[in-house]
Amino acid sequence: MSRCWKASFVALCASLAQAGALRPSLALSTEDPRVARIAELALTLTLPPLDGLSPAGANRWRGQLGASQVEIALRTLPSETYDFAEPESVLDHGPSAWSKPEWQRNDPGTRRALAGPFGYASYAVYERTELQRRDDGTRVGLRFLLGGLLKEVGYWITLEASPPPTSAGEAQLVEFLTHGIVYDGEVREHRWSEDEAYTRWLRDAPAEAREDYKVIRTAHYLVLTNSDGGKAFAKKMEECHAAILAVYPFDDVPGRRLLPVFLFRTADQYFDFYARIAEIPREDAERSKGHAWRDYYATWYEAPGDPVHVHEATHQIFANRLGLGGGGSWFQEGVAEYMSSKSGERSAAAGQVKRGQHVALAQFLAIPSLLMSSDKEAPGGDQAGDHYKQAAVLIEFLRESKWAGDKFPAFLTRIGRLPSGKLGPLEEALAELYGVDLAGLEQRWAEYCKKR
Ligand SMILES: [Zn+2]
Repeated sequence: MSRCWKASFVALCASLAQAGALRPSLALSTEDPRVARIAELALTLTLPPLDGLSPAGANRWRGQLGASQVEIALRTLPSETYDFAEPESVLDHGPSAWSKPEWQRNDPGTRRALAGPFGYASYAVYERTELQRRDDGTRVGLRFLLGGLLKEVGYWITLEASPPPTSAGEAQLVEFLTHGIVYDGEVREHRWSEDEAYTRWLRDAPAEAREDYKVIRTAHYLVLTNSDGGKAFAKKMEECHAAILAVYPFDDVPGRRLLPVFLFRTADQYFDFYARIAEIPREDAERSKGHAWRDYYATWYEAPGDPVHVHEATHQIFANRLGLGGGGSWFQEGVAEYMSSKSGERSAAAGQVKRGQHVALAQFLAIPSLLMSSDKEAPGGDQAGDHYKQAAVLIEFLRESKWAGDKFPAFLTRIGRLPSGKLGPLEEALAELYGVDLAGLEQRWAEYCKKR
């Protein structure tokens, strides 16, 4: 049984108002009005070919693209304050949630990543959002938001066109995002330097585990270990990564910092690590076989094939690659348990749904932590385990059923960004996605389980 602790979702930062605009950049080059050099950021922007292109404030430009007015703005936030580790975390704090009262909900689409000279991190991520009017749903504009990471600051570039441009016009905006942003400063070692890796090990590993330190790098992971099984384990983690990418796709661009994995030789070393880093009682730490938190995954070497690894690797990727750390415990555990269980292992849970013996959705979606949902007074049974399986069957239904399957990408993006623990917005989002209320969704789910 996979058990983990999932860090609670941190809602979109409310302090956008603190976002400091930069000092005005050097004026547009006299040679080419489209080229803006922002020397203090080592960034050169080659703006889209807009009619009447002109500065509209500090690092802000305006112009016409056919019938569309286009506004481009660049802002920065200090990385230290906001704990930026990747361009994704910059976007998480970016204005993707900005909306005007007269606009409808304008949820950004799937997050895309671009490899290239975008900053200290040599890739950027962006989202595309269609802006619609609340009263009649008219499309009023198109917005791109791109996030990049420099050494000291994260930056985002917003690009808003109103009314929405033609597809040829949109292609020019995308061309700017793709090739018009060039950074020429220092680039980080995304595979971690020897120093960085060892410093992290010394900082976090318990004293009794620090001997026999080894580091193993794979395409996506940095395995810090004192176990002899590091290589076999690293290979297994890559298999987990490929499996997760196939089910929950994202742009797997180079340049992302390798995901750290702590692999201890013994369970005791792992429990000590966990108790100390999370400041929890050791007996609580002993309830887990591994856990993903912040950027890392930690476990001990026992069985590389244990499903706990793909379960936790899924949490790590949802938080650090997909930017989908919200939705609630049912969502987080559901997507992870769906990866770590076979169809047959979910049959008992599906049977309960079929017979109406499961925890009703309205109650289930509100459970703050499936792991802690066990009723310790109840004799026998494994309530938390049952809840994990129920969550996995729900994800299976939403992904594999004919009725819901084509909406699965939108489901992930929309629900994974909702703050955990609020049933209202969740119900609203599910109703918009599937066109039925919770009772209707539950009925479809039961029908799916009957034929499963
Ligand atoms: Zn979990």
